[in-house]
Amino acid sequence: MNAVLNINITPIVKSKLSDLSLENIPFGKYFTDHMLVADYSNGVWKNVEIKPYAPLMLEPSLAALHYGQSIFEGIKAYKLHNGEVAIFRPDENFKRFNLSATRMQMPTVPEEIFIEGMRKLIQIDREWIPSLPDHSMYIRPFMFATDAVLGVKPSDSYKFIILLSPTGPYFSTPMRIYVEEKYTRAVTGGVGFSKNAGNYGSSMYPTSLAKEIGYDQVLWTDAFEHKYLQEVGMMNVFFIIGNQAITPSLEEGTILSGITRMSALVILAEMGLEVVEKKISIDELVAAHKAGTLREVFGAGTAATISLIKELKYQDEIMYFDTASWTIAPELKQRLNDIRQGKVADKYGWMFKVD
Ligand SMILES: *Cc1c(COP(=O)(O)O)cnc(C)c1O
Repeated sequence: MNAVLNINITPIVKSKLSDLSLENIPFGKYFTDHMLVADYSNGVWKNVEIKPYAPLMLEPSLAALHYGQSIFEGIKAYKLHNGEVAIFRPDENFKRFNLSATRMQMPTVPEEIFIEGMRKLIQIDREWIPSLPDHSMYIRPFMFATDAVLGVKPSDSYKFIILLSPTGPYFSTPMRIYVEEKYTRAVTGGVGFSKNAGNYGSSMYPTSLAKEIGYDQVLWTDAFEHKYLQEVGMMNVFFIIGNQAITPSLEEGTILSGITRMSALVILAEMGLEVVEKKISIDELVAAHKAGTLREVFGAGTAATISLIKELKYQDEIMYFDTASWTIAPELKQRLNDIRQGKVADKYGWMFKVD
């Protein structure tokens, strides 16, 4: 991109904020006054605009609705202790977004739109960021194909949008997990590493089957043997075995490279654990449980940060955990939240200042 992108700003007439209480807000239900929208066609991004949040008018033949070229990100911004506003590692989301775009044969989005546009949007709606403890602003950048033709081909035109949604603490009780041996989330050569809408759509049926029999989420296994562990629901998974913090490795392309995951690896090492990224099987997990060395199991992702797992069902084997006695996952969660809320020094440079 040669010229500096001009972001056109159309402010709202009257803020919706005064009608809302930012306490007890359900996740992803309320959106701020403004959104950022940009269009791609003829090989260039244009019409970069921050304007009032409003419905879109779309063609029923919209390519994204028929063939699924649709990707997104999830990021959080925080009002820090000193009143400043900062976003947690948006540079990593930016890289991942463009990786997803490339895999889905979509154009990449320039930094001036993704990062600078996001910064500008948050500045404009900064009053919406809840300052209550454990609250934040959830940021949802997404892109979808907008060609209005049913021919199967990569779309020539796309829309990129950023929405902001104020969010409260994610109340998560320890989860009961079903080890999935029939359905598959991701396979080598597929799209598991990309954050595309279809990955979520295809996970819903297996998850609802697990819910019918009393489980909260599934633990996905590999497509070939249903033996190697991948992710828990839509979160990365960690196992504390002895002094090791183990998480499935990324090289097969079946794991979404979570930013919570990569941050957790740094913090767990700092806490004195040996961090290991490797292929790990359910058999190894069951053996560790029998030997009494499987100490903690948890999920990691932006929405919930760290989610404890109190039960794992694999065939006739049920592994129960006394999450109340755990120390590692709660400390990891605390340390992550302290960094994100500016309670401790940001020694890794993870917080991206908005002002
Ligand atoms: C988004 C996502 C995660 C978590 O990634 P974060 O960057 O930590 O939020 C993990 N697994 C899947 C499948 C995801 O879509």
